[in-house]
Amino acid sequence: MVDVPSDIRALSDERVLAVTWGDRKADFPFVFLRGQCACAQCVNEWTGEQILDPATIPAEIAIARMELVGSYAVRIYWSDGHNSGLFTWERLHELSKGGC
Ligand SMILES: [Zn+2]
Repeated sequence: MVDVPSDIRALSDERVLAVTWGDRKADFPFVFLRGQCACAQCVNEWTGEQILDPATIPAEIAIARMELVGSYAVRIYWSDGHNSGLFTWERLHELSKGGC
C-alpha cells in the first residue's frame, strides 16, 4: 500500500508532474506519463497490449487539470482531451522506480 502523496502538482514550465511522498520526490515528464496511461482506450484490457502509439503523443501535451479519486488515485485531464486514465499512487510509485 502506497501512501497518499503529500504533494502533487503539474509544473507547466518544466512539463513534469511533481509527486512528493514525504522526503521522496519524483518528476514525471508529461509525455512519458501520457504514454503510461493504462485505461481501456490506451491498453487492451485482455492482452495488456498497448493500443496507444506513444509516437502520436504531441510533445506539447500538458495537463489541463487533475482530480483526486478517493484517496488512492488521481485522474488527469490531458490537453489532448483524454481523461479516462487513472493513475494510482501505487502506479506512480512503480513508475518512479523505473528511473525517470
Ligand atoms: Zn488512456
